[in-house]
Formats: sequence, C-alpha cells, structure tokens
Amino acid sequence: MAEVLVLVDHASGAVKKPAAEMLTVARRFGEPSAVFIGPGADTAKDLLARYGAEKIYSVSDSSAWEHLVAPQAEILAQLVSEKQPAAVLIPSNSAGKEIGARLAIKTESGLITDVEDVQAGGDGPVTTQSVFAGSYTVDSKVTKGTPIICVKPNSAAPEQAAGAGAFEELSVSISEDAKAAKITASEPKKASGRPELTEAAIVVSGGRGTGGDFSPVETFADTLGAAVGASRAAVDAGWYPHSSQVGQTGKQVSPQLYVAAGISGAIQHRAGMQTSKTIVAVNKDEEAPIFELVDFGVVGDLFQVLPQATEAVKGK
Ligand SMILES: Cc1cc2nc3c(=O)[nH]c(=O)nc-3n(C[C@H](O)[C@H](O)[C@H](O)COP(=O)(O)OP(=O)(O)OC[C@H]3O[C@@H](n4cnc5c(N)ncnc54)[C@H](O)[C@@H]3O)c2cc1C
Repeated sequence: MAEVLVLVDHASGAVKKPAAEMLTVARRFGEPSAVFIGPGADTAKDLLARYGAEKIYSVSDSSAWEHLVAPQAEILAQLVSEKQPAAVLIPSNSAGKEIGARLAIKTESGLITDVEDVQAGGDGPVTTQSVFAGSYTVDSKVTKGTPIICVKPNSAAPEQAAGAGAFEELSVSISEDAKAAKITASEPKKASGRPELTEAAIVVSGGRGTGGDFSPVETFADTLGAAVGASRAAVDAGWYPHSSQVGQTGKQVSPQLYVAAGISGAIQHRAGMQTSKTIVAVNKDEEAPIFELVDFGVVGDLFQVLPQATEAVKGK
C-alpha cells in the first residue's frame, strides 16, 4: 500500500484533533505517515501511532518552523519526491492552505482545499466539498501529480488503529528564500476552557436575538462541552469577539451539532455553518429563514428555551 503523508496540526507539540481525523481518513486509501514539523514529536508519537501512523517523520530543526509556512512546503516537497506518496493531507486552515498551494506548485500537482470528506476512488482519492455558500456539493479528484488535499476539521470521526509509529528524524536543508520571513514572537491564545470553534464537535451560536446577553448560550454550550459562535450582527454590536463570528466573512464550521439561537439564518451566516451534520435552531419567529435548513427547530424565546435545554442535558 502506498504511503499517505499527513501533516500534523499541533500547538507546541500538543496534537490537535484534526490530525487524528486525517490519519483516520488516510487509512481509507493508503498507509498513513505523519509529518511532524516543530518541537514535541517525542511526546506526540504514541498518540499518532494509536491513530494508525505507520511512520512518523519528525523535523525538529528550528529553521523549519521559525519561518512561517514556506519551509514546511519545502519539506513536504522533498518527501513527495522521495516517497512518491498516494496523497498528501494537510489541515484546511489558512496556514495549511498556503502550504498546500506552495507544495502544489513545487510538485506540479493538483490541489483541492476545504475538503469535507475523502474516500478511496478507483484511481486516487475522491474528495467532497461544499461550494457557492453551500449551494452545491462537489466531488472531485486530482488528475495531475500527487493529490494534495486540504481537509477541514470534523471531516471524520477519529478512529484508533494501531500503527507501527516508526520514528525518523529528518535532516532538511531549507533554502534562504524560504527563510525570508521570521516569526519574532508568538503568544498562545488565552485559554477559554472551550474547544476551538473550527474544530469543535458541537457549536452553540448566538445572534442579535440574545440582545447582547450571551449567558444562556454560554451556559448551554458548557453543558455540552461545545464552542461558542456568534452571528455578524452580534460581533458587530461588540457583544462577542470577532474571532467567534461564523459565516461567509467569519469562520467556517462543520460540527456534528450546530445550535443557532436568536439567529435569523441570513445567507452569509449559512455559508459558514450549513455543512454541519445536525442543525438545531431556537428562534421566536416561526418564519425565520434558519428554519428552512434545520433538522430540529424550536419556536420560542431563547431565554426560556436554552435554560430548559441546559437543565434537561444536566439531568441526563
Ligand atoms: C458581505 C457580507 C458578509 C457577511 N458575513 C456574515 C457572516 O460571516 N456571518 C454572519 O452571521 N453574518 C454575515 N453577514 C450579515 C448577515 O447578512 C446578517 O445581517 C446577519 O447574519 C444577521 O445576524 P442575526 O441573525 O444575528 O440577526 P438578525 O437577522 O437581526 O436576526 C435575529 C433573529 O433573532 C430572533 N430573536 C430575537 N429575539 C429572540 C429571542 N429572545 N429568542 C429567540 N429568537 C429571537 C429574531 O426573530 C431574528 O430571527 C454578512 C453580510 C454581508 C453583506
């Protein structure tokens, strides 16, 4: 079976959930090899093997991770040329998409981004994307070079499958061009105690209907272990941080469960959440457009419905 390279998404060595998801996806059409760039591979390697990594290529040389994304594309290009993998899977976040684009040019390969599912196909992996603000679902495959696929979080439920986890420290030489920009300082985001919005399995979002009081939204989210999102109307009003905005000009989320509370369901909001697996809305207007796309809708006041839902979940 051919290797599938999986670029591991991590924060200072702490492996993020999408890495386990991508290792699970990679096993559908090859043998996953994790590519870990940065410090901390030693501590991450057992977890990566648990999710099926047969090999772990580690690059701990600081020149690989102190210079934004260009060195990472060079390292992957080197691995593609040496290993001739069946595909390269990269997290579909802003850094990952830039790495994918640079890698595609270097290896003269096709690139598919914002992928929500990948399955084995007759002659290479077949990807599924949602396009034009979620109006179409498109299946595609790469027809030239090595398929380079940027996979969105929550594309698969992570499944454990013991891999050999053979560890190899790579020595790489990074070009001077790739070192043109250097990270001079970085500060971890203040921990909110909630999962990252784009990676969370459950997202509870509030809109203008909260009137600026997000407490029922937050309490319900915490009961479910969910991330909190917001509509643009709510963030523009200064009720919630811009980093929590879901939608066309905010974050794209695709959780297992999305709860929209006091959100009308404008097309620009839908663009960021309508690929969620199950959608629930609470809105006091039964004509609100959000009800057109929900799996389960509650017509009611969120200040009554969410506390009741919180109590019901706590009672389980
Ligand atoms: C270029 C462009 C980009 C945009 N990008 C985004 C984007 O990324 N994300 C985004 O969200 N929007 C975006 N918008 C804005 C979008 O068009 C809407 O204006 C916005 O989504 C509305 O937010 P809302 O649903 O919270 O507010 P509203 O549309 O005002 O809806 C509030 C809803 O709350 C309900 N409600 C009120 N009180 C209660 C209550 N007590 N209990 C239950 N329900 C209640 C009302 O019935 C109503 O349906 C964009 C717009 C443009 C032009």
